[in-house]
Amino acid sequence: MAKRKTKPIVAVVGRPNVGKSTLFNALAGENISIVKDTPGITRDRIYADIHWLDMTFTLIDTGGIEPDSKDVILSQMREQAEIAMETADVIIFLVDVKQGLVDADSKVADMLRRSHKPVVLVVNKVDSFQKYMADVYEFYNLGIGDPHPISAVNRLGIGDMLEAVTEYFDKEQAEEEEDDRTRVAIVGKPNVGKSSLINKLLGENRLIVSDIAGTTRDAVDTEITYNGKEYVFIDTAGLRRKNKIKEELERYMIVRTVSAVERAEVVVLMIDAEEGVTEQDAKIAGIAHERGKATIIVVNKWDAIEKDDKTIYKFTEKVRNTLSFMPYAELLFVSAKTGQRLPKLFETIDIVSENHAMRVATGVLNEIMAEAVAMQQPPSDKGKRLRLYYITQVAVKPPTFVIFVNDKELMHFSYTRYIENQIRETFGFKGTPLRFIIRERK
Ligand code: GDP
Ligand code: GDP
Repeated sequence: MAKRKTKPIVAVVGRPNVGKSTLFNALAGENISIVKDTPGITRDRIYADIHWLDMTFTLIDTGGIEPDSKDVILSQMREQAEIAMETADVIIFLVDVKQGLVDADSKVADMLRRSHKPVVLVVNKVDSFQKYMADVYEFYNLGIGDPHPISAVNRLGIGDMLEAVTEYFDKEQAEEEEDDRTRVAIVGKPNVGKSSLINKLLGENRLIVSDIAGTTRDAVDTEITYNGKEYVFIDTAGLRRKNKIKEELERYMIVRTVSAVERAEVVVLMIDAEEGVTEQDAKIAGIAHERGKATIIVVNKWDAIEKDDKTIYKFTEKVRNTLSFMPYAELLFVSAKTGQRLPKLFETIDIVSENHAMRVATGVLNEIMAEAVAMQQPPSDKGKRLRLYYITQVAVKPPTFVIFVNDKELMHFSYTRYIENQIRETFGFKGTPLRFIIRERK
């Protein structure tokens, strides 16, 4: 049975000013990974990967803009809680010991309790455990379990809080490991045709939509059998927010995308042929790239545009330019409406998910590297020349290689890219990113 390597998602929910951003920063610290060659990735911390002990999880801040009245606060907290319940494996409900228990907290706690999601109640601003502990107990009244006191500013109680959060991971992981089906996330901006695609795939193949037992996300997972093979499609379309604030919509789109992408091996990025490829598409694509997923760019509504013999080449060029950080991605032109080239989509999903999990023997890798080095001399600086000693593949999903060199500083991005290209020339690895870790060996 294939082991799944998906990172759990933890969402933080709480009123304005309880300290969500402060907690986020305390946890993410310098760990936040910003992929340099991914343009358009939101730099504001909507999400970050957190490493603690031997665990990694993705932390999501569901809170956005500061509302100005009490009514708005409650409705916004409800929204936050909904997003968290839809996307997260564990929810951190953050409250503020200084403000004490307020009505909105109780209402949100009721919602969270009904969702049956694991919730860790965290009481912030407990700057002195001695002084404020009595006030912490008040939060037992929320009826969602033990309150965990922390001080985000002083980094107190963070370890205990993380222990409570990560305790919930094992169960989740064990469930997912049982699953051998290819998981495909359908992502893209609103109205590109995500729901239409899923409906068409379902309709065309007259297949069963089933509740997937044991998961809490049945609503967005669609099981489709094609040619006797089972796939799980993870949809980000379901959510239709009435929210008027543009930044909020963008945040929700990103949160949903991160959550769907994290749970998948293959990402289908949908682009609207009528609108062309946009910066928003690049932002969404960046999430798949950053997370090392196999990616298929699907240009939808191909039926709707006027074409001549050059249209497809022009479109291809534009897509490749805008998404230049993922040259490995496969590209398909489809119509969810007519069903054009949808069989090809399944074929491509199979290919890219195989490549995503492909392992190459160390001997062959070293032959390729030796040949590459012989063909193009490694760079040198101040009289010192880069030497590449050894390469080995250390992981799959995505394929990850370690190259041992004499001096890391000399291993420029362009030479790593050159080695990557040589490996791709031999093995293809179509549709999947490759990762390279450079290590020094003296
Ligand atoms: P958010 O609106 O929930 O993201 O809250 P912020 O992280 O922006 O924090 C709101 C205010 O609470 C800021 O002035 C923080 O400095 C303060 N704050 C956050 N954590 C603590 C804490 O542990 N102790 C104290 N005393 N203040 C804190
Ligand atoms: P979603 O928000 O990404 O789920 O997008 P929908 O599936 O709701 O589609 C948005 C709109 O685009 C609807 O009016 C669809 O009928 C239309 N649409 C979706 N796919 C196609 C397509 O392949 N061709 C054409 N012409 N229209 C499409």
